[in-house]
Amino acid sequence: MPDPITRREFLQVTAAAGALASTGLIGTADQAADGWFDRPMRWVQLTLVENDPGSFDPQFWLDYFRRLHADAATLSAGGIVAYYPTEIPLHHRSAWLKDSDPFGTLVHGCRALDMNVVARVDPHAVRTEVKDAHPDWIAAGPDGQPRRHWANPELWVTCALGPYNFEFMDRVNREIVAKYGVDGVFANRWAPQGGDCYCAHCRENFRRATGRELPRTGDRRDPARRAFVEWRIARLTELWKHWDANIRAVRAEARFIPNGPPDMKTAAELADIQFADFQARRGLTPPWANGRRAKEFRAVMGRKPVAGIFSVGLEEPYRWKDSVQSEPEIQLWVADATANGMRPWVTKFSGVIYDRRWLPIVERIYDWHYRHERYLRNERSLARVALLDSEQTETFHAGAADGDRAADHVLGMYQALVESRVPFDLVHEALLTPDRLDQYKVLVLADAAALSDAQCDAIRKYVRRGGSLVATFASSLFDEYGVRRADFGLADLFGVSYAGGDVAAIGPMHNSYLSLDADPATGRRHPILAGLEGTPRIINGVFRVDVRSARTAPSPLTLIPQYPDLPMEDVYPRVAHTDVAAVFLRDLGPSRVVYFPWDIDRTFWEVLAADHLQLLKNAVAWAANEPPVVEVQGRGVLDVTVWRQRASTTVHLVNLTNPMMMKGPLRETMPVGPLTVRLQLPQGKTPSKATLLTAGTVVEPRVENGALTVTVPSVGVHEVLALDD
Ligand SMILES: [Zn+2]
Repeated sequence: MPDPITRREFLQVTAAAGALASTGLIGTADQAADGWFDRPMRWVQLTLVENDPGSFDPQFWLDYFRRLHADAATLSAGGIVAYYPTEIPLHHRSAWLKDSDPFGTLVHGCRALDMNVVARVDPHAVRTEVKDAHPDWIAAGPDGQPRRHWANPELWVTCALGPYNFEFMDRVNREIVAKYGVDGVFANRWAPQGGDCYCAHCRENFRRATGRELPRTGDRRDPARRAFVEWRIARLTELWKHWDANIRAVRAEARFIPNGPPDMKTAAELADIQFADFQARRGLTPPWANGRRAKEFRAVMGRKPVAGIFSVGLEEPYRWKDSVQSEPEIQLWVADATANGMRPWVTKFSGVIYDRRWLPIVERIYDWHYRHERYLRNERSLARVALLDSEQTETFHAGAADGDRAADHVLGMYQALVESRVPFDLVHEALLTPDRLDQYKVLVLADAAALSDAQCDAIRKYVRRGGSLVATFASSLFDEYGVRRADFGLADLFGVSYAGGDVAAIGPMHNSYLSLDADPATGRRHPILAGLEGTPRIINGVFRVDVRSARTAPSPLTLIPQYPDLPMEDVYPRVAHTDVAAVFLRDLGPSRVVYFPWDIDRTFWEVLAADHLQLLKNAVAWAANEPPVVEVQGRGVLDVTVWRQRASTTVHLVNLTNPMMMKGPLRETMPVGPLTVRLQLPQGKTPSKATLLTAGTVVEPRVENGALTVTVPSVGVHEVLALDD
């Protein structure tokens, strides 16, 4: 039987996790672990389909891996289908396997190419014979009935948190590692699939752990739901540790590597290496989305390696797994991940290929990566701005009013930082330690609504140590479980108190504006209004939080309340001017604090108004109060990142300029340039050599006053300015 954690242990696990999160005492995770993990720079994954054995040509793939200069592979081994002669009863061998061992053939071939090899298993489904032998291994729906697979009705979905994973898959993992000496086991879809599981094990284990029945609704304010979220994380963490310990017992260097950690904090605690599975665009997907995923993982993994899984096909809800995208789209998807510190990992389903157009595309990407590898082994980011990544806000905060979604605030802020060409990182709420935070001059809270007291305190101390803050909307108005506070947790920093009612935000507001006010004492406008000289007012956002301030300083931005937008005869302001501040600015000497009590970031994501972009850009620049680490002049939309390697500094320029950029598809590359790049030299040292890696040209920088200036003639998709010490 599995060893479900008892209620007492559960409380200990979650209390310990909460305490760690709240004090930020989780390890720094910045040390690269000993072992093989940091060696591979380019990954490949081949996921076989059941009828591949006997039809696909392993040598074709091994030749391709060699041409890619791939140094690690993830290969289908077992789970739903075994691609090797397994001895474990009920571990279904491919019906086409006969006496072959395609997994073994590929493992040996990759080893001969000096590659690291990780075995891929997928435990999420089984055949009817397994269900008949072990009905309790199958996930159950809310009605208690076994769950059929949503895509293939011949299969049954397994319970991820019961004996199937804890016992059966544990045996499979051990058999694979023992037989083939692989460097790890990577489990796809190892967490619950197809909805919550109501099987006998889950009902009983949840009851024993929490004293509650499994929640029947998704309402995140339901205490049973909150307990369930934490129990699920705790149970998956147990499973990770269980599998990992038994894999290590067989081969000490090997690891269990989940496809997707239970939460990011757990990845920080347990992982020596992580893989971010975000294969392609879906729906509305800005082209920086894969770079954002890289930042999310780096926020918890620090210096430890993260590989970005990309596919070559269209995904979308219809999952054309055998399709191929355009070269610019594949290139840009990978480039933005690379620029943000992730290593490429191409994944392909099916050993038999129909559409072969992607093969030379990926070869070109990997060849570039191989040639410039030494400039891509980053030691640390030189970004001076960090955006808080709050998983608990995403999990527990239901929005400040109907129609408000915290995730949209983050998206808007992300877009604004990219458009402002500000190099920035994400920092995770569980890791607000001085060693993480103090490398940044500005911390940005984009409606980080749910923050614990300890997290607020960590931010307060950061500001006391000289850090600056830009915060929006309902940041810190809720605790870590999304429960409303009487006042902002950071009221003292913002210089305001909450003055609203039961619903945290007012709105949606139509046809409301903001007045741009000069300082009555000097007659001059504040620098936060720079670039808006031509107008006395700009549009407001859609939601605002009612606040009051004890301070009497006039705000450079004040509310013009909404007025009718129809009939046209009625469209004139009833109140021309108010003293309701729309931004609060505090200059504390070394630190500066900017607080917007409205949804500037969320509205920016929805409307993308240029004036809101200008305000956000000015807010970050004013809060930073230092020359930007890198400035890029010239046309286009660019993702800019700055890195240190052991003996070099790099500036990545990813060209996101495209008429379809907010949807994702690319037809062609639209080069931008010339661009002028100005970089503050680390320690003011002049580099011995400056190279544009993609152009392949050595450039002569101008150096003056501790800054270096280079002209980049043109950027197609991705250019890297590499400066040798
Ligand atoms: Zn279950």
